[in-house]
Amino acid sequence: MNNEFREIDENLKEIRFNIAETAAKYRGQDEKIRIMAVTKTVPPEKVNHAVSLGIDLLGENRVQEYLSKKDEYDSSAEVHIIGHLQTNKVKYIIGSVAMIQSVDSIRLAEEINRLAAKNGKIMDVLCEVNIGGEESKSGVAPDALNELLQSAARLENIRVCGLMTIPPPTDSDVYLARMQELFMSVKESRPDGINMDILSMGMTHDYARAVKYGSNLVRIGTGLFGARNYK
Ligand SMILES: *Cc1c(COP(=O)(O)O)cnc(C)c1O
Repeated sequence: MNNEFREIDENLKEIRFNIAETAAKYRGQDEKIRIMAVTKTVPPEKVNHAVSLGIDLLGENRVQEYLSKKDEYDSSAEVHIIGHLQTNKVKYIIGSVAMIQSVDSIRLAEEINRLAAKNGKIMDVLCEVNIGGEESKSGVAPDALNELLQSAARLENIRVCGLMTIPPPTDSDVYLARMQELFMSVKESRPDGINMDILSMGMTHDYARAVKYGSNLVRIGTGLFGARNYK
């Protein structure tokens, strides 16, 4: 096996160990925490090596890059869109992805709904929350979340399954805790037509802490595959 592949094995072992350790300390016994492999800039053969190690979830940021790689992916893994999605790109991914985690506007939800109906499917989605209120990040403001959820609940061909966020890199504990609170408050209000099963939060630098604060889906790129090679 070549060194790059061996590095992925070791990285994944460490990630699984850290998640298990944090979960044992802070979380319920039977809570399942999924690990997503974030594939941006990573060649398909490396992605498939991660799948061979038991990764069953891939995260895609860029539609163009995803389309160029998807035929080479091991099809046993699910693909989720995690990057900002323009409404005019939904048509390219609606047929092949299992979830869109980055729904941040009613307009986007409506377009996903329209094309899901046309494809005869119900698309699972997460609503993305800009928990730190950062200009540079997409996602709805926390106080606009309810309106987005209510609108999405009325759309028959999408199913809201939870929330996604990218917290600010500094003071991250504060925002992880704030996100957990927001997620729990929506969950406890049991909104009609909405599931609050998934909290997608945590990346390479903060995934263990995110698990502490209730995340059950961590999205890991560099921590698994090594530093990204932008061309
Ligand atoms: C790139 C990316 C990640 C993974 O980031 P790393 O720091 O490489 O783990 C997670 N989520 C989103 C939305 C991303 O764009």
